[in-house]
Amino acid sequence: MTQPLLEIKGLKKHFTTKKGLWGKEKTVRAVDGVDLTVYPGETVSIVGESGCGKSTTGRCILRLIEPTDGEILFQGRDIRKLNATELRRARRDMQLVFQDPFASLNPRKTVGQILQDPLIVHGIGTPAEQRKQVEEMIEIVGLTRQHLDRFPHEFSGGQRQRVGIARALILRPKLVIADEPVSALDVSIQAQILNLMQDLQKEFQLTYLFISHDLSVVRHICDRVAVMYLGKVVEVADKRTLYEKPTHPYTQALLSAVPVPDPNQTVKRIILEGDLPSPANPPSGCTFHPRCRHSMETCRTTIPALRQTKAGHFVSCHLE
Ligand code: SF4
Repeated sequence: MTQPLLEIKGLKKHFTTKKGLWGKEKTVRAVDGVDLTVYPGETVSIVGESGCGKSTTGRCILRLIEPTDGEILFQGRDIRKLNATELRRARRDMQLVFQDPFASLNPRKTVGQILQDPLIVHGIGTPAEQRKQVEEMIEIVGLTRQHLDRFPHEFSGGQRQRVGIARALILRPKLVIADEPVSALDVSIQAQILNLMQDLQKEFQLTYLFISHDLSVVRHICDRVAVMYLGKVVEVADKRTLYEKPTHPYTQALLSAVPVPDPNQTVKRIILEGDLPSPANPPSGCTFHPRCRHSMETCRTTIPALRQTKAGHFVSCHLE
């Protein structure tokens, strides 16, 4: 059986906040016990509303922010137990593509320098070899060698994201965490970047963890989907099962809001009551119960476990 590339067990990230000098401390449960397994070569998407903890999960995996609890096993080793040198080595294999490529690219450096920097940091190759790798990579992502001497502000949004992808791939990682990589782009450009990412996945045998709030984008690229709500994963399934037979009431509501291209097909929209509750004061029991149309007494008091209901289909709901 294939070994997972990434296995997350009970991942938590709690932030402590305080209002004013004398204010009471509050714990914000941004990520509150996430379990997820990612196998080599697949694309797993984490979806959910803004504030559900999906981006924080991605950053915890890379230890860009320190998790509060849980295990992050990457190729069998717990990332949380690595020292600084081991972590830097592990990060060669785990790269991040940001939502806003402009904000993530140093405006004072040329694209050539931006792409060469990771090679310098990790001591890979001579300057001439690094230059050759940079030239190859810029062409692989659909730009030209002439672009290497330009600065980030001279590029369009789509071109900048190509540079962001090139920077992530220059170290030939195994896992790429893409955090809303196309949400800042026009729809026509989104398709180009998604197609590029799919081509690169085949070429470099990449595994993607694709974080997005947009279920129509996710459908285009993923193999499996994990739906997050208020810091927890509430449903995990392969793409077909999730889109055709969503089980968790929250997933059903999210999918009912996705536009359908066929005018003859009507989907009954499920309107969610109220806003996403604050992770500083989450509801008791099932945190979705104040907005759930199937809520029962037990939902208010008992937290539902994420259980396997069919092969590869996990749901956290008392109805299942
Ligand atoms: Fe709704 Fe209860 Fe299921 Fe939560 S556990 S999703 S409140 S039915």
